[in-house]
Amino acid sequence: MPPKPAEIWGAFHASDDKPNGHHHRATHWRCINAERPATAPIDIDLDADSPLMKNEEWFATALASALNEKKDVNGEKGAMAGHLRRCEFATEEERALAANLAGRGW
Ligand SMILES: [Zn+2]
Repeated sequence: MPPKPAEIWGAFHASDDKPNGHHHRATHWRCINAERPATAPIDIDLDADSPLMKNEEWFATALASALNEKKDVNGEKGAMAGHLRRCEFATEEERALAANLAGRGW
């Protein structure tokens, strides 16, 4: 079975809007997490439920910082897979997912 869109979106935060009219902007959870202030408490399991980060106080600032560094990508398969292949924070599972997506249509 080829990976479904939801599987790769699981690694990304989706923007509320679609700046190009077609796609949400996608920001890798682990890139956002990398912007977490050193003073923020580490009390979540990032692998278990990354979207919970959205509820933490530092999240909006960290997301803005990631966007400022142009870490977001267009929310389509090729761009998201490309990010995971290049990202220093991507896990082996995310890299494998990205490799598995290459050349497949949704
Ligand atoms: Zn990343």
